[in-house]
Amino acid sequence: MKAVKYLVLAGLVAIAFLLPEQAETAAEVEPFKTAIATGFQREWPYVAYAAAWLVFGLAIFKPFCRWICPLGALMAIGGLLRTRDWIPRRAQCGAPCQLCKVRCRYGAIARSGKVEYAECFQCLDCVTIHGDPRQCVPLVLAARSRAARKAA
Ligand code: SF4
Ligand code: SF4
Repeated sequence: MKAVKYLVLAGLVAIAFLLPEQAETAAEVEPFKTAIATGFQREWPYVAYAAAWLVFGLAIFKPFCRWICPLGALMAIGGLLRTRDWIPRRAQCGAPCQLCKVRCRYGAIARSGKVEYAECFQCLDCVTIHGDPRQCVPLVLAARSRAARKAA
């Protein structure tokens, strides 16, 4: 599903060049004009489309943003130009620790522990965990073994 947003972006770019008179209609793939700009005061197909995404969003975490949004795809492509991997990781990330992968609601951390920056929404949840001695597993274990040595 993560790849669909790139297809949507490619489709919009193609329409903008080949059928520019249809570009405004094609841009309606984004439901935000209906939901925010017009406050749902539009023809029913637009309202139904935007409402469907809202209902879908009750069951799945931000499906439109993660899977369909062409702007997200454009930003992910722009992200390829980043000069460094700015999200801190530890040697234990991925093997054996999977905590941040499980906690990342955007599915942007691979099983190996590597951050997939194209999918990262920069929510900073994993950065918080990484620096928190009460959450980051190696820090928790180190604190426990220090406490055990002290007690002994
Ligand atoms: S910053 Fe947020 S979205 Fe990005 S990898 Fe970390 S938890 Fe996932
Ligand atoms: S909890 Fe710590 S070690 Fe585990 S994945 Fe997150 S940052 Fe890495």
